[in-house]
This record gives sequence, C-alpha cells and structure tokens, in this order.
Amino acid sequence: MTDPLILVNPATGTFELTDLRSAQLPVTDLSAHRGDGIFETVLVSVGAHGATVVSRERHFTRFRASASALDLPDPDQGLWDRVIDSLIAEVAAADPENVEFGIRYALSRGEQDANGAFRGRGWAFPVPVDDHIRTAREQGVTAVSLDRGFDAYIGSKAPWLLIGAKTLSYAVNQAAGRYAAANDADEALFVSHDGIVLEGPTANLIIRRGDHLLTPNPEAGLLSGTTQRLIFDHAEDLGLRAEYADLSLDDVKAADGAWYVSSMRTAVALRELDGNAISIDQTLTDRFQEIIRGR
Ligand code: PLP
Repeated sequence: MTDPLILVNPATGTFELTDLRSAQLPVTDLSAHRGDGIFETVLVSVGAHGATVVSRERHFTRFRASASALDLPDPDQGLWDRVIDSLIAEVAAADPENVEFGIRYALSRGEQDANGAFRGRGWAFPVPVDDHIRTAREQGVTAVSLDRGFDAYIGSKAPWLLIGAKTLSYAVNQAAGRYAAANDADEALFVSHDGIVLEGPTANLIIRRGDHLLTPNPEAGLLSGTTQRLIFDHAEDLGLRAEYADLSLDDVKAADGAWYVSSMRTAVALRELDGNAISIDQTLTDRFQEIIRGR
C-alpha cells in the first residue's frame, strides 16, 4: 500500500492496516476538536543493516511520560513497536529505495461512550522528509525570536500547562511558524517572558561555546528533545562537554555555532537570529547529522 495508515485500538491491544487517504477519524474524537492527545515523530534511517528507528526508546519513554501528564492510559510498548515495524515493512515493500522517512504515531483520548468512559484511539503513518527539510540541512535556517508568554521554570508551579508533554495541541506552535514566515524567517525561536531562550516550535536549540555544547534546560519550559539528548550522549566522542544552561538571545548570537535539532530535521545550522549572523560550524553540523542518521 503506498499510503498506509495503521489504526490502533489501545483497549484491545490490536491494530489494522488501512489507507491514509480514506476517512478515518470521527469529528467527535477529542483529538479533533480539543487537541486532546499525544504524539511522537520518529526518523527511520535505512542502512546496510536494515531500518533503524532513531532514538526509538527515547521517543517511547517520552510518549509514556506525555500519556502520564495527560492522564491517558499507559501505552503498551510491545503494541506500538509492532505498529511501527509493520509500517516500516509497508514502506520498504512499496519503495525499496526509500532510505529515510518519518513515522508519526499518536494516541487520542478518543470518544466518550454512553457511560462517560473514554475509548482511546491510536494511529500511525509514514511522513516523508520533505524538500524544505533537505534544504535546511544543507543551507541552515534563519530565525526570529518570539515571546512564549510565560516566565521560565513555570512548569512545576503550573502542571496543567503540560509543559514538556508532546500533545496534539500545536496551534500555537503553528502560528509561531507562520509569524516567522511573515517576518521573512525560516523559524521562530521562543523566549520566556523573562528573557530565557527556550526552543523552536518543533525543534530544540543547541549552541557551541568553545568546547561546550549548551542547550536550554527542559525544566525552563520546553520539550526535552530526543535529538538533543542523542547529540549530548555523543558529546564526549566529539571532544566537547555538554550542559544545560539558561541562555539569553545575546548568548545565541555570540555562539561559535548554533543548531535547530529535531527528529526529522536532524541538525540544521542556525545562521541568523533577528537579523544577526551567527558563526557556522560546518564540521560539527556534518558530525551531528551523521550521528543522528547513524551513517
Ligand atoms: N520541541 C518541540 C516543541 C517539538 O515539537 C519537537 C519535535 O517535534 C522538538 C522540540 C524536538 O524533539 P525531538 O528531537 O524529539 O524530535
């Protein structure tokens, strides 16, 4: 099947393969009109030894943490692994030349039955690495800073904000992306109301300062990225020390290199912030991309 979709029934632990192009989601599903659910997007990299889901375990651990933050039932890892593997097999059968694609998997609170109980619903489908990602990997991106509207480290005082959970409520993130585009930038960079750099709408930020790799602390109010953690796990091999840090916009502008990192992008150089050029470290960009793709 060229456009496969897998529908998951978390209650029965079963799933079925169907067609992404056919109608599937009732409008009464709480994901559709409340964004009440969670998701992950993983990169699948196909090499000589077969397909690898990059940071598979990190993604699933975050998926479980997101479920817990939203009081959703604990997802069954074996079930979701079978779903992902089935999709990889479908993509490979349809296009054996495809060496890189994403898989997006989601769990919705679903619909309420007559007794008031929720019937959860899951799904997963492949997503291509599109042209704008390939261009960004090669040429880097520009960004404008945007006030995120809350102070840093507010999450522990306001857990209902679900900071750090990867929910299906991305309208704000989408709006930030449109705002950046309207201001001739490729990306937005969220900054806390009190001036601490946080993240992009769908990516984390890493900078290099001398022999240090620095990234905003997830506790400051952002998603803990699987790509950022994968890169940090390799810092020592790169001769670098990796740390969380509270960064200002000036810190980013003065960096020896800066990157937007996420599963689908891998690592792309941030070459300009609010009209200020940022140093490019091409060697490290290449190394990051190799580490993430595993080739
Ligand atoms: N921050 C946000 C808000 C995101 O949506 C994402 C991913 O989509 C990231 C960071 C990067 O996370 P990861 O590296 O796990 O893809």
